[in-house]
Amino acid sequence: MRDLHRRYGALRAVDGVSFEVPEGEIFALLGPNGAGKTTTIRMILGLVSPSAGSVRVLGSDRPSTVRDAIGYLPEERGLYRDVKVLDNLVYLAGLKGITGAEARRRAMASLEQLALDHVAGQPVKSLSRGMQQQVQLIATIIHRPKLLIVDEPFSGLDPVNTRRMRDLLLRLRDAGATIVMSTHQMNRVEEICDRLVMLQRGSVVLEGTVRSVRRQFGGGSVLVEADGSLEDLPGVARSVPVGDGFALTLKPGVRPDDLLTTLAARSAIGLRRFEVHTPHLEEVFIAVAGASPDDEQDSSTSRSHDRPSRSGPDATA
Ligand code: ATP
Repeated sequence: MRDLHRRYGALRAVDGVSFEVPEGEIFALLGPNGAGKTTTIRMILGLVSPSAGSVRVLGSDRPSTVRDAIGYLPEERGLYRDVKVLDNLVYLAGLKGITGAEARRRAMASLEQLALDHVAGQPVKSLSRGMQQQVQLIATIIHRPKLLIVDEPFSGLDPVNTRRMRDLLLRLRDAGATIVMSTHQMNRVEEICDRLVMLQRGSVVLEGTVRSVRRQFGGGSVLVEADGSLEDLPGVARSVPVGDGFALTLKPGVRPDDLLTTLAARSAIGLRRFEVHTPHLEEVFIAVAGASPDDEQDSSTSRSHDRPSRSGPDATA
């Protein structure tokens, strides 16, 4: 995407978005409600035309021409409720050019993979919401798309089916598919996504690998365990007991290395643990999306582009 814009009247739903999705990765498209994710996806699919800017999908400037190589799982599911599961899948496969015995074979194989083969002969309306969602995903991938776009694929799934869905997406990636996933479940993004973009009010506010984004926001606090006193340390704004030690929040501008130098100089400190806290994506999301409108522009954009990366030890959070 290059400087993509989409206006609805005076509203700038997408306002100058540029990013690239590398082939063969799982890519997360994140952002608070109304940030412009669905509008961006619709432009990738060629369902909505940009007001300005350009999209290139699978080497084509006209997304509609590569539609058969794309699978889209929309937020609103669209199966025929009175029709049997297998018939739904065979019909939808037919629309993508997969017909007859091959369509049935693929549909049954996928149903078996998701432990849903026993519902093949049942009408869709008799399935639970989570089951319907999985059937819809099968319909989305039955033509083996090169690019798969999934909107909230985990919503409504129990932990077992969440794991099945996760494994299926990973298998598809390992088989060479590129997957764009829009979701609000940050732990799933940490688990399976390689890279992310976060939109806010139509603009990109965060971009990078999941690891680099988490690290970028790290360094503000440190977990320390020591035999000696951790009181009155310069550069520490707040100290909260955690387990056998303390979570120390650093004052702005103070780096974990500065604190480590201070601690190392105290002969009686008896340092047992020093760990830079790497925030989870959910914390990053809240820090960016929860910033007030006034400081959002400064903090979010400067974090994504200007703030120096503070890579510390590969700490667990
Ligand atoms: P959510 O997480 O809630 O699904 P989103 O990031 O997908 O949100 P979009 O659906 O892209 O957000 O919407 C972005 C903005 O554009 C919103 O303010 C929405 O009201 C507006 N919008 C989207 N589609 C239309 C439309 N067809 N007509 C008018 N406004 C629209």
